[in-house]
This record gives sequence, C-alpha cells and structure tokens, in this order.
Amino acid sequence: MDLAGLQDALGTGEPGYRAVQLYQAIYRERASDLVHISTLPARLREDLSARHRIGLPEIARQYESVDGTRRYLLRLDDGRTVETVLMPEGERDTICISSQVGCPVDCKFCMTALLGLERSLTAGEIVGQVLLVARQNGHVPGRRLNIVMMGQGEPLLNLANVVKATRILLDPAGFGLSPRRITVSTAGIIPQIAELGREPVRPKLAISLNASTEEMRQELMPITRKYHLRDLLDACRAYPLRPWEKLTFEYVLLKDVNDSDADARRVVKLLAHLNAKVNLIALNPGPEIPYQTPAPARVAGFQQILRRSFPCFVRQPRGLDIYAACGQLKKAGAGG
Ligand code: SAH
Repeated sequence: MDLAGLQDALGTGEPGYRAVQLYQAIYRERASDLVHISTLPARLREDLSARHRIGLPEIARQYESVDGTRRYLLRLDDGRTVETVLMPEGERDTICISSQVGCPVDCKFCMTALLGLERSLTAGEIVGQVLLVARQNGHVPGRRLNIVMMGQGEPLLNLANVVKATRILLDPAGFGLSPRRITVSTAGIIPQIAELGREPVRPKLAISLNASTEEMRQELMPITRKYHLRDLLDACRAYPLRPWEKLTFEYVLLKDVNDSDADARRVVKLLAHLNAKVNLIALNPGPEIPYQTPAPARVAGFQQILRRSFPCFVRQPRGLDIYAACGQLKKAGAGG
C-alpha cells in the first residue's frame, strides 16, 4: 500500500497524520508487526492488526554461495514462489529482485524462460522482497544499497506495479533510496519504455540488447519480432535522461554466436549518438541452455572495441555455484 492506500485502510475516522505515521513506520522504520508501531495509539494498533498485517514473503529456501551471494526462494500468499538475490560487496549491498513469477519473454539463453509466466507480482510483493532481504541481513537504513530489477520477469510488462513499488522505495518518507540506486532492466518493450519516461519518479533504465543485428536478436529473443531493433533505438533516443543519467545496455556474450569483433563494431554503430554505457555478461551456463560461454580473452577483445566509444564493463557473475547469477533463476538447482 502507498500512503493513499493506508489512508483508505484506516478509514475516515482517523486524522490524516495517522496514515503518515503508519507509512513511515512500515517503510522507513521497517516495522515487522503492526502492534509494535509505538507512534500509534494502542487501540488503533489492535484494531488495525485485527484487519491487516505487514505481509512479507516467507523464505521457502535459502542458498549461500562461496562468494557470499545469497539466493532466496520466497513463498508468496498464494503458495507460488519467486527468487531474490542478495550480493554483498564491500561497503555496499545489491539486491536483485523479481517483478513476475516466471517470465513470458522466452529468451533462448535464459533459464527463467523455461518457467513461462505464472503471474505478475503486486507492488507489495516487489517492495516486500527488499524489506525482507534487508531485514534478514541486518541492513540498516544509511548503509549503501542498490536495487536491480533483474530477477525473474519482465518489469515493463508489469509496469503499474513496478512504478508503484519504485515510488515507495524512492520516497524519502518511505524506504528513502536515491533514484540512482534502482535500476530496472527490460528486454525492450517499446511502448512501455516511453511510458516509463513520462513518470516523474522512476528508476534508471537498462536495456537488454544482446545482439548486433535484427536477425540475431529475433533468434535469441523471440519477443523482439514484435519490438524491432530500429524502433527500440528510436525509443532510446527519445528517452528523457536526467542530467546525471546514462542508458545502460546489457549484452550477453554467447560463444561464436554474437561475440565477434564485427558484432562489437556493429554495437558501436547502433549505440552511436546515445548517452550509453554497456555491461557485458559472459553467458552463465545452464543445463538446458544450448550456448557456450566465450573465453575470457574473447570477452576482453569485445570489451576493448566498445570501450573506445562508451564506458563498457564486464559484469562479474555472482553466485554461480548456487544458480543465482543472471539468467539462472529457476527455483531449484544446487541442492534444491
Ligand atoms: N526481462 C528483463 C529482466 C531480466 S534482467 C530483461 O530482459 O532485461 C537479466 C539480464 O540477464 C538480462 O540482461 C538478460 O539478457 C541477462 N541474461 C539472461 N540469461 C542469461 C544467462 N544465461 N547468462 C548471462 N546473462 C543472462
């Protein structure tokens, strides 16, 4: 619930500031139970807890990687499960959250695609992943935290709930994150890119490019038969970046498929005139995935060509041993 939702839940008998107190207690103070919210009078706490609860997802299973990454399998109210990953890194934690149970996009290199779409998450289930993982790991307000919506699902196919959740996470009176600290990644759902750009409060945007030609992109990401590369790049050019912001492009490198120098040069051409940054991801393999990971030298060669034109980084895989890395979120794996 956002502030308006809490106001409705409280009813008209309560003064307006009660909803603000409740909102701050849940999202800023991260209260775990309504009866503990000491800013509210006791009778209101009891009345509220008779009708409502702070419903966080439940941990069904938890896997811990040798590199400190934790993958959570979370059970939702209807019994379905979804994944969230915590990646601690020095002074900063990154939480990778899901926007849907499963995913409808069907990328040929991604294990989540094998699940298909079960359903979209509510705004509460999106924010709940952050609140739960932060609480589990003793993450206190003030410690650096990044949120990436790069787990299961295609966030732009659940845009209303993603935006509602983002507003709560970015609200200084709510969870209080800076807009620089949340990134949403899309396979390139063009109409919703424009829609997101019109939101006054929004996360940063990352786009999964993954190929240097229309043909290859359609082969690897069938959904792009509907959303063409040329139109995608037009939408990117029209996207209203804030002064501090760049558009991030992700590119999964598949051995001998899209990882040649010629591919790299085509990517440079495609992204020319965009305020772009590129994250390369060497394929994280999976048993049902028909592609191989390129050798580190090939990844470096590809990076070198892009680096002449854009900031270009190679994303280091996290939690490979527990199937927590990009494209590996599929419930079981590693003893599951
Ligand atoms: N549906 C959104 C959100 C998922 S983000 C999107 O497509 O952007 C997950 C990122 O991991 C995407 O950039 C995707 O291309 C990448 N990815 C998927 N499977 C992968 C794999 N097996 N290895 C490496 N990266 C992968």
